Amino acid sequence: MDNGFKNIVDELKNTQSITKEQFVYILERGDKDDLEYLYAAAREVSEKVFHKEVYLRGLIEFSNYCKNDCYYCGIRCSNRKADRYRLTEEEILSCCDIGEKIGFKTFVLQSGEDPYFTDDRICDIVRAIKKAHPDCAVTLSIGEKTKESYKKYYDAGADRYLLRHETANEEHYSKLHPESMSGAYRKQCLFDLKEIGFQVGCGIMVGTPHQTVDNIYEDIVFMQELQPHMIGIGPFIPHQDTPFKDEPEGSVDRTLRLLAILRLLFPKVLLPATTALGTADALGREKGILAGANVMMPNLSPSNVRDKYLLYDGKICTGEEAAECNACLRGRVSRIGFTVADSRGDHPDFV
Ligand code: SF4
Repeated sequence: MDNGFKNIVDELKNTQSITKEQFVYILERGDKDDLEYLYAAAREVSEKVFHKEVYLRGLIEFSNYCKNDCYYCGIRCSNRKADRYRLTEEEILSCCDIGEKIGFKTFVLQSGEDPYFTDDRICDIVRAIKKAHPDCAVTLSIGEKTKESYKKYYDAGADRYLLRHETANEEHYSKLHPESMSGAYRKQCLFDLKEIGFQVGCGIMVGTPHQTVDNIYEDIVFMQELQPHMIGIGPFIPHQDTPFKDEPEGSVDRTLRLLAILRLLFPKVLLPATTALGTADALGREKGILAGANVMMPNLSPSNVRDKYLLYDGKICTGEEAAECNACLRGRVSRIGFTVADSRGDHPDFV
């Protein structure tokens, strides 16, 4: 066992802080035993806060139209091969009805940045869901908007908002997005959302083209400033109809190390073991939970549209019905000794 590695993990656990040198060490060094020490420390912290409970979020991908052209994304506007769809309000509500019946207490409404869904339409949908399911939380993941729009969603009853910042480094951001998009504005959106009162989630993909270890450390520094309630990270997986089609996939090992580091830095944060992690490794989500994650997001979208919301190639769970996904994930959670929570699964500061 590498004492240097162990000492950094202990210090990280005790101080919830990490220097760049320590970060690079944990990300790049260590053998199997060192990694088990890291994951055990992350699990211990997670278990203290969340008591071995995993929160399930029902994900409803309600539109794959998007006006943006992010280079890594399969539903970017210039991908003419994407088969576009929108769900109606009735269809979205029916997903929620099914979701609550099978035990979900959070619905995550996700889409590309689709101008069809005006603020009024989004607010109508949020209000209708909250009316039909008053005990459930609504999370929106619909991209960059103005602060005024975010406030309207909040006033309509939305509880949480996910907006991955993708990278905190401007230069790296410009290598992943067209000139029309700005990393600075994206960060501002996150601060606005927090100020309004949402539980806010940021995040990155691990292993995006041109990403350096220094970039990831900048992401950590940004997260320490933002203090998000949720952090979504998963490995980068290329999509065949994007400019990054020939780029290598992000590393599962690095993603797991990063999950553990994030758990130690942010003990109370809601940390998903993502579908991308489960796509890159058949047991990736279980490994994620065992490295400190505490959330999973089974798909609640109608099965006839699931294979159309493809941000990356090979996405798992596109053929199953909601109930099958639910049963499968509950089985995965119990096989590793955890249980599925029956609460809404808010961030501890919001309980
Ligand atoms: S990542 Fe989001 S904003 Fe960018 S093209 Fe894809 S759906 Fe649109």
